[in-house]
Amino acid sequence: MTDKSILANKFDVDAIRKDFPILNREVNGQHLVYLDNAATSQTPQQVIDVIVDYYHRYNANIHRGVHTLSQEATDAYEVARQKIQKHFNIAHSYEVIFTSGTTHGINLVATGFTSFLKKGDEIMVSAMEHHSNIVPWQMLCERTGATLKVIPMNLNGELIMEEYHKLLNDRTKLVFCNHVSNALGTVNPIEEIIDAAHKVGAAVLIDGAQAAAHIKPDLQALDVDFYTVSAHKMCGPTGVGILYGKEEWLNKLPPYQGGGEMIAEVTFEKTTYADLPHKFEAGTPNICGGIAFGAALDYMNHIGFEAIAQYEEELMQYATEQLLTIEGLQIYGTAKHKTSVISFNIDGVHPYDIGTILDKLGIAVRTGHHCAQPIMDFYKIPGTVRASFSFYNTQEEVNKLVEGVKRARNMLL
Ligand SMILES: *Cc1c(COP(=O)(O)O)cnc(C)c1O
Repeated sequence: MTDKSILANKFDVDAIRKDFPILNREVNGQHLVYLDNAATSQTPQQVIDVIVDYYHRYNANIHRGVHTLSQEATDAYEVARQKIQKHFNIAHSYEVIFTSGTTHGINLVATGFTSFLKKGDEIMVSAMEHHSNIVPWQMLCERTGATLKVIPMNLNGELIMEEYHKLLNDRTKLVFCNHVSNALGTVNPIEEIIDAAHKVGAAVLIDGAQAAAHIKPDLQALDVDFYTVSAHKMCGPTGVGILYGKEEWLNKLPPYQGGGEMIAEVTFEKTTYADLPHKFEAGTPNICGGIAFGAALDYMNHIGFEAIAQYEEELMQYATEQLLTIEGLQIYGTAKHKTSVISFNIDGVHPYDIGTILDKLGIAVRTGHHCAQPIMDFYKIPGTVRASFSFYNTQEEVNKLVEGVKRARNMLL
């Protein structure tokens, strides 16, 4: 498993790295080792080319103009929507709502549920959420008087599913959970979460921001009600993502924002709303970003999600083994099913200090609470060092990380 030639045979990482110009740059006089993929991924030349081509040739506002540029931009944007539909196996392209990212998608649903909830209703979140999948729901509870329940987790960073089943009841209206935890890497059993919630009549929103770069989910098979994604975590640009919603839910939910593009007819007495997906797409969207998101999916599908998952799994196993050889190093998040994230600390050392020394060595990792403070409170730590991997990372880069952490440890202890 740790033999480089075995990895190289199955997966030509050297060829893939050539697609990412940023991987050639130097940081602090050292070759960049980018291990902050859980925060944002890098962009391949194929996607950069699509962005440049848009501004070179057909930058125009969509859906509004009869002129050629506007039609070309509209067509490309709608083709991207179809690519996203196909990638996630969504029944209808109008169930794909373009957003500015996961945070936007979650807020859209949380705001939309305001009129559906009353005092005494319950909504449920997991113990390992990103703040963007906690705060909007707390705000929803404040508006409606509903109660927020929490699915607990164990020390390995796995949800305690018996407790989940006990918490579900006929007052539960909505369950939301991430598919993969950005702080721990845990892959959550979302099939079981969705099925059990549906049995008590609750809707389910899955935050796929961290999962979608590693797993290709079949949203119809999952039968999930809502699923959110950010393009920038999967080789696309920042400021664009999608919310998938089942048609029946999207029809029931009120629009999130008012404005242009989302109306059928406007008078000062009354406005009627446009059909899906436009009802939820007020104003001029990130047109180029949407088109580039489609290109990013093409790029990743060309490599293949099975090949990506297998390679990343081997890389993570290798990194885990190597890091654990360092004295006093503890990994947080040791779930049976996890992907591409290793959160760790070294006894007696602040994570921030390790991150600073690694940066001097050209190694980019995240330090802090990773927008998941409740997880840090659970482990009673201020934060962690997080190394997160993508399919363009290599075993050699893992070795540099391990050497860097060892050096940091020697300097700081
Ligand atoms: C990154 C991330 C988010 C937030 O995504 P944005 O693109 O910042 O809106 C939410 N949840 C998880 C699990 C994430 O990894």
